[in-house]
Amino acid sequence: MAARPAESGIRAIFDRAAELEGSGRSIVHLEIGRPHRSSPEPAREAAEAALRRGDVHYTASRGTGELRSAIAGSLSKRGVDRDPDTELVVTAGGSEALLASLMATLQPGDEALVPTPAWPHYAGQLALAGARCVEIPCRAVDGFRPDPERLEAAITPRTRLVVVSSPSNPSGAVFGDDALAAIAELCERHDLIALSDEIYERFVYDGEHVSIGSLPGMRPRTIVANSFSKAYAMTGWRVGWVEAPAALATAINAVHQHLSVCAASFAQAGAAAALGQAERFVAELVDEYHERGRQLSAGLERIDALETVPLAGAFYAFPRVATGESGTALATRLLEQAGVAAVPGAVFGDGFENHIRISYAVEQSELAEGLERVREALA
Ligand code: PLP
Repeated sequence: MAARPAESGIRAIFDRAAELEGSGRSIVHLEIGRPHRSSPEPAREAAEAALRRGDVHYTASRGTGELRSAIAGSLSKRGVDRDPDTELVVTAGGSEALLASLMATLQPGDEALVPTPAWPHYAGQLALAGARCVEIPCRAVDGFRPDPERLEAAITPRTRLVVVSSPSNPSGAVFGDDALAAIAELCERHDLIALSDEIYERFVYDGEHVSIGSLPGMRPRTIVANSFSKAYAMTGWRVGWVEAPAALATAINAVHQHLSVCAASFAQAGAAAALGQAERFVAELVDEYHERGRQLSAGLERIDALETVPLAGAFYAFPRVATGESGTALATRLLEQAGVAAVPGAVFGDGFENHIRISYAVEQSELAEGLERVREALA
């Protein structure tokens, strides 16, 4: 029997913050990775129209032809060529894209390398797949990018897969060409699959996102998980997708059929419209969070007790608490006393107990207020 995943530590903070808010407290929400804007208008209109015309039934489990063509078209504009019929599977969010990929590729007892700090759902989903999550802690001095030697040292005969998450939640790290090439080389030499979580690919603030799947020799052994949640501010729609070579996509689709059958029909219609008509929305959101990241970095510079690395991507900072107070103690104190919700670093892997995660996907005024409260609490 596979181990059951623990409850999400991010949700625990979110729920407590909501409870405090319910009792009348003012809370600044810097805990949740949810863009503050509403979803693009064309997506909302297309979903409404789909409902009105009775688009309320199961779709093909791989997703509607309309959405798969739209995804393939959008990828091809960015130089990625995918056959919409055989190499794409639309899923219920990036979460299901990842879980279906892990369940389709791993046997109970297999091992997966997960550079940490990492989104805790990888460990939870590996537990569901009956596989072992082997954490590879990355160092702040390396900008939280994985050290290939440490990755290689953890490889055993049971290692099947490495999770590549760039830009990273929670560190905001973006893996450079060197790190990606080194991971690709390990994958080839040890016959590993790269599961590339590219949900934050649009949120790269210096240069362009590079997928490990685009490196020489990597396409046949790379699965990409992506989603509409972050770039299109569509977290509640639950639409994501997998890109994989045809045989892997077929195996992933089989798991997906058992997990969710298909993504919601009208949500898929909205997602297709987002891809065609909301590129400006994405560009503006990315610019806005780039600016917000600069605001946060400037604010953190004035707080000696929190040490951060430069923010390169996604919309999180992962500062170290330099006072000796644990991240859990600080996050509790910030929430209960100062009314600021942030997530303790321990949630993101062993060895990060002295960190907290701050999300900056919020209004400028909210971030300013949150920073002021944190500064006072740590003064
Ligand atoms: N991957 C990472 C790194 C995330 O942070 C998240 C959500 O926070 C997801 C995947 C899944 O997002 P969704 O299931 O909403 O598409």
